[in-house]
Amino acid sequence: MTGRLIVVSNRIPMGDVPSGGLVVAIHEALSERGGLWIGAHPDVVDEATEEFADLPSNGYEKKAFRITEEDHQTHYLGYANSVLWPLCHHRADLLAMEPSYFPGYVALNERVARMIARIAEPEDMIWVQDYHFLPLAQALRKEGVTGRIGLFLHIPFPHAGDLDALSERELFLDWFAAFDMVGLQTQADVARCLETFRSAGKGEMMLDGRLKVGKRKFDVLSLPIGIDAERFAEMATEHDGRSLLNLSPREDIIIGVDRLDYSKGLPGRFRGFGRFLDMSEEGDRRVSLLQIAPPTREDVAAYAEIRDELESLSGKINGAHTELDWTPIRYIHRPVPRDTLAALYRVSRIGLVTPLADGMNLVAKEYVAAQDPEDPGVLVLSRTAGAAEQMEEALLINPYDADDIARAIARGLAMPLEERRERHKALLEGVMRDNVSAWCEACLGWLERPRRPTHEDAQQSQAQETT
Ligand code: ADP
Repeated sequence: MTGRLIVVSNRIPMGDVPSGGLVVAIHEALSERGGLWIGAHPDVVDEATEEFADLPSNGYEKKAFRITEEDHQTHYLGYANSVLWPLCHHRADLLAMEPSYFPGYVALNERVARMIARIAEPEDMIWVQDYHFLPLAQALRKEGVTGRIGLFLHIPFPHAGDLDALSERELFLDWFAAFDMVGLQTQADVARCLETFRSAGKGEMMLDGRLKVGKRKFDVLSLPIGIDAERFAEMATEHDGRSLLNLSPREDIIIGVDRLDYSKGLPGRFRGFGRFLDMSEEGDRRVSLLQIAPPTREDVAAYAEIRDELESLSGKINGAHTELDWTPIRYIHRPVPRDTLAALYRVSRIGLVTPLADGMNLVAKEYVAAQDPEDPGVLVLSRTAGAAEQMEEALLINPYDADDIARAIARGLAMPLEERRERHKALLEGVMRDNVSAWCEACLGWLERPRRPTHEDAQQSQAQETT
């Protein structure tokens, strides 16, 4: 492949040097290869033209498309986050469908496709990130783009039963089929994807592992995302987490870090911690839960509800257990700088990660990277998080079962040093090896892979020649 790499993601860093795992990986890939990064401009405009705004960058191009308030309501808050997000996170009960959402979502994708089609060369390779742009490949094909187009879906592929709740179910599958490569986080996602196509009578598995839908053939692959593990491990030693928290020598910390989202299993986590306190005997040490959960997507109703529920739960648990000099749940609603976060992970005896559904969960990997290998903490991880497929040495729990969470907390706190080291060593090896650069290389490697014509291709062209 000699063309440019074009990355499309909803969020695009505005400054020169981005921070945070995914954007850093994309920045590095583009810096190395050159190319173009396309994303949504964060400032809303009254009328969106079909002209890109050029953003400052070094070594590669960056362009932003403009969005209107209506795009924000129907595309971002609407179809993406009130329909696709709950659908893919196994919460079809939270789907909020408004008549304007679907047309708004498709219209934005079509607009971006027209803009890209005007600047894309036939040899360019387009790599699309996430659920904001599922119709993009189909729209680009309609605009005559013939080059390689890949998708990476960061969130889970929906369960077949949940997809029945989507009026555009058939179209949803056609959107995927317009890509050349569909990257999913886990093997379980791949299995769900293939089964969904099969049960819809749409897909045919080819001998070379690709899925064939109509005339299109595409790869469906598990390519689990990682973090910038080395950088994170370094950052974790830059500050002393115990003094940041002003911890007394008798206090141990359990840490939870999440966006405030109903998929993260936060009420269950609080209940599990509450049960742990109920069953703990009064002793010398005190164990606190430090939950950092800044609100997100507050304009979506389901997000306001979770905030109220958590405040009431933490109030109840603190009410039952608080003492004069100690509050069991410390609940912080703000984002925390990454170096502070890394230091806080490092001093926490347990990383408590309990999503009900999660594409991957990067917090689990960050917690492991931040530990002191000589005296590491214990990762308690939901078996329904994508990360559990790679992180079997964590204490895997059922996030719906508060007693299971309570028992894992107790087990983690009592775990002998040798077992902690063994588990951590195995987890750290994986987190370091399968880091975000390896993920990026693997995705781009698949997308670039030259394809030899298959037996099916030969048969098809023979058939075309004889007609
Ligand atoms: P999601 O992508 O659904 O939010 P992940 O766990 O995969 O979940 O990624 C969350 C990312 O956001 C992690 O890198 C985490 O460190 C970061 N993050 C979450 N909450 C906070 C916070 N309060 N302050 C700073 N960073 C946060």
